[in-house]
Amino acid sequence: MSLQRKTSFNNIRKYILDIFFPNRCPFCGKVIKWNDTCCEKCFSKIPFISTEHCKRCGQENCICDKTEIYYDGCVSIVDYSGIVREGIINFKLDKAVNLVDVFQDNIYKEISYMTEIDKIDIVTAVPMHKSAKRKRGYNQADIIAKTVSKIISKQSNTKLLIKTNNEIAQHELSMIERAEAVNGLFVFNKRLINEIESKAVLLCDDIITTGSTLNECARVLKSNGAKKVYCFTIASTHLNYNE
Ligand SMILES: [Zn+2]
Ligand SMILES: [Zn+2]
Repeated sequence: MSLQRKTSFNNIRKYILDIFFPNRCPFCGKVIKWNDTCCEKCFSKIPFISTEHCKRCGQENCICDKTEIYYDGCVSIVDYSGIVREGIINFKLDKAVNLVDVFQDNIYKEISYMTEIDKIDIVTAVPMHKSAKRKRGYNQADIIAKTVSKIISKQSNTKLLIKTNNEIAQHELSMIERAEAVNGLFVFNKRLINEIESKAVLLCDDIITTGSTLNECARVLKSNGAKKVYCFTIASTHLNYNE
C-alpha cells in the first residue's frame, strides 16, 4: 500500500473512531477536532527545547567526558516541565496514548539533527518489566518507538531488550548511584541477534533524566553486536552531572 493510501485510510479510521471515542487533548483532556493533536491553549504552553545541546549525550551541559557513554547520539523534543509533565503522566495512565502525535512534526527534524536518518536501521524501545507491562497493559516507550519508526520509515522491533527486574525507585539516587542501580537490569533477547548485528539502532523512551537507563540499554545492545546506538526521548529533565 502506498504511503498516501495508508495515510488516507488512517484518516478515515480516525474520523470514524472519533464518533464513538471523541478525540481529546492529551494534556488537559478537552474534546478536540478529530484531526487535531492537542488544543491550541496547551500547544502554546509546550516547553520546546530551544537551547543548544550536545548531539552525543543530549545534555545542555555536556557530560561526554565525565562518564562512559555507550550511545552515539541523543535527542529530546521538550523539557520535562509544566504541561509536558501532565501529558506524560496522562500518557502512562492510558488517558493520552495520542501524546506522541503532538510531536510528529518535530520527530523527523530532531532525529535528523542528531544523525542522518539513512544511517538508522531499526527502531526499538526501553523495555518495561513484564509484570509492570501486564499491570499497565502497554509500554509507553513501545508506542513512541512504533510512531517514530513510521515517521522515519524504518522497521521497528520492541522486543530486542528484556527488563529482568522491577526497578527500584530511582528519583532519590545520584547519577552515580543510578548508573549502578541499572547495571544488569536489561538483557538482550538472544533470538533476535540478526536484527541488530552490525546495525544502527534507534532506542526510544519517554523521558531522559541522567541517561543511565539509556546508557545501560546501549551498552547491552552494543555488546550484542549493534554497531551504533542513537537515543530519542520525548522529554528531557536536563539534570546536571552532580545533581
Ligand atoms: Zn489542552
Ligand atoms: Zn556531550
